Order: sequence, then C-alpha cells, then structure tokens
Amino acid sequence: VQRASAKGEYVKTVVIYSGGMDSFTLLNQCLQQGEQVHAISFNYGQRHANKELATATKYAASIKLPHQVVDLAAIKPLLRGSALTDNVDVPQGHYEESNMRLTVVPNRNMIMLSLAIAYAVSADAEVVKFGAHAGDHAIYPDCREKFVFLMHQAARCANYHPVSVVAPFIDDTKFEILALGFSLGLDYSNTWTCYEGKDVACGKCGSCQERLEAFSQHGKPDPLPYATRELIKKT
Ligand SMILES: [Zn+2]
Repeated sequence: VQRASAKGEYVKTVVIYSGGMDSFTLLNQCLQQGEQVHAISFNYGQRHANKELATATKYAASIKLPHQVVDLAAIKPLLRGSALTDNVDVPQGHYEESNMRLTVVPNRNMIMLSLAIAYAVSADAEVVKFGAHAGDHAIYPDCREKFVFLMHQAARCANYHPVSVVAPFIDDTKFEILALGFSLGLDYSNTWTCYEGKDVACGKCGSCQERLEAFSQHGKPDPLPYATRELIKKT
C-alpha cells in the first residue's frame, strides 16, 4: 500500500544531502511537497568535507531538520585515486572533459545509498532520494538511471521494509534544477559546491564552473564568494 501525503508521493523521505545545490534543491522540494524529511550527509574524507558539511549542518539546524552526519573518514584508504579523496590535484574546467574522471570516487553512491537505505528502514521512511542529475551521467556511472534502478531493486530485495530509491533530477540539467529552486524561492547562499574546500569557492573546478554557468544562463548572480567567476571556454 502506497502511503502518500497531501501533495507529495511520499510521507517520510530520507534525502542524501551533501550541502551542494542539487541536494539542497531536492531537500526543499520534498519539504514543500509536505514530506517529512530526514537528511543524511557523509564525511568520506573528501577534501571539501569541512566546508560542505558545515554548510549542510548549519542549514539543517536553521530549519530544524532531522540531520545525520555519518563519519566515514576511516574508509578513506579504500578510496584511492580520486582527486576528491586522495593526494591528486582537482582538475579545472568542464565536466565533459576526460580529466574530470579524476573526480570519480570509487563506488561512492553505492556506499552512501546503502547507508541511507538502512536509515530509511530504521526511520520507517518509504524512500531514499538523491540528487544525481543529467550533467553527471557522462562522468559518473553511479549517477545513471540504470544504477538507480538496480539500487532500487537491491534495496527492496535486501529488506523486509520496502524502501524505494529515486533520483528525481536524473533527467534534469543544472539549469533546470536551478530553475526549480528559484520557483521554490530558495536562497543558494545556503549551499556549497566547490571541490577545493577553501574559504572562497575557487571558480575553476568542474563543480564551480558548472554552477557558475547555470547561474549565468539564468542571468542571476551566484550569491557565493568566488576567487574568480570567469567561465572557462570548452576545449
Ligand atoms: Zn571550485
């Protein structure tokens, strides 16, 4: 039996919340649909953990959202070779470029979803949502529709309590996610995107570039401080 709230499809939802703009938008969409949201964030030793998790924690507290921050720092030795978790420089420029493969973290979404599914079972939530979007497909295999579907199947197979796994933005671009956020009246100064994790966003990493491009396409200023806001031309 599918339980449903007045507006949304689900009553209780676990959202994987990184502190970035996609999961921030998703979280707020769920709340505005009347869902009871439980947010979960992960420290997996990513170099921008401090900045990202501080932003997520601060925002969750400001709206009194149940929020779990899971410390996975101990698994960092298992996540070698990625610019986000290992001693590898963060590549600059566009996501489509092959050097962005350096930002792939081994099995990241399967690890995070697996724990979020456990949280959903124990919190009696019907669904786990995460913010994978169309711009991720080229670089990150664990942000593709097939992976989401298989994790959904695995979650239902692995537990007595049925939990769905969905990625509502899977077909959306960053531009479209931002359009949704603006229509929901969201303030993106409550988010953090840069992979470098310094006090000011670098403006040059793939993550910054993608974000700056989306704001620029909307003709709106990004409220975050940046070292540079220049868009790098695609090569
Ligand atoms: Zn950056």
